[in-house]
Amino acid sequence: MGEKRMPVLFMGHGSPMNAIEDNEFSQAWESIGKAISHPKAILCISAHWETPTTQVTGMTQPKTIHDFYGFPRELNEMQYPAAGSPELAVRVIQLLGAQNVTVDERWGLDHGTWSVLARMYPQADVPVVQLSLAQTRDGQFHYDLARQLAPLRDEGILILGSGNVVHNLRLISFESEPYPWAIEFDRQVKECIERDDHEPLIHFQEQAKLAALAINSGEHYLPLLYVLALQQPGEKATFYCEQMSLGSLSMRCVQFG
Ligand code: ZN
Repeated sequence: MGEKRMPVLFMGHGSPMNAIEDNEFSQAWESIGKAISHPKAILCISAHWETPTTQVTGMTQPKTIHDFYGFPRELNEMQYPAAGSPELAVRVIQLLGAQNVTVDERWGLDHGTWSVLARMYPQADVPVVQLSLAQTRDGQFHYDLARQLAPLRDEGILILGSGNVVHNLRLISFESEPYPWAIEFDRQVKECIERDDHEPLIHFQEQAKLAALAINSGEHYLPLLYVLALQQPGEKATFYCEQMSLGSLSMRCVQFG
């Protein structure tokens, strides 16, 4: 308490290659990391960890998970040796209620988390805890759950959602021109965020065709709802990386505070 309120961030992570490539995205992530004062710990909600009910990682030394195929050896062998924080896991359970979240000792850090943090905090000197996405739950569930994490921002914890606003791997294209529906959905999301209009974003399933294409299976979009839920009154969004990658991935990052 009495500490400066930490920002809350949504990171569009895209390809795992961003962890090792020097490009416009990885450079932006480096600047974002440098601009944020050193957090005590990071709580990451990654698109790549879905479980039947919400879980939080409780180990002291999470392993680096290489949850992808067909990438170069350099990426497959990459380690992100950040410590865990059993203390933060306990605090998360306290805030969310023991009936709503259980401790996990088996996961670790998936690439949704470490590909971004390897650029933001290359020294891996900030402890990291992951919170899973409960499968089959709707946007309102995730948004309401996330609101209970608000006190962490005043306790030196950086909360980070990692996914992509637009994410459709089946329609990925190396021809480089982004799809018009991808640009349109990404634009609508940005406008809602600028108006502090969270309702249409929470009920994204009702947006029918456009959302079905843009959000696809949902897990890359949901971390955004955790970040929106933690916006405090008067905070305005800052956007980074407002580009599309591979036709159907929005690299948009959103920061509050
Ligand atoms: Zn991903």
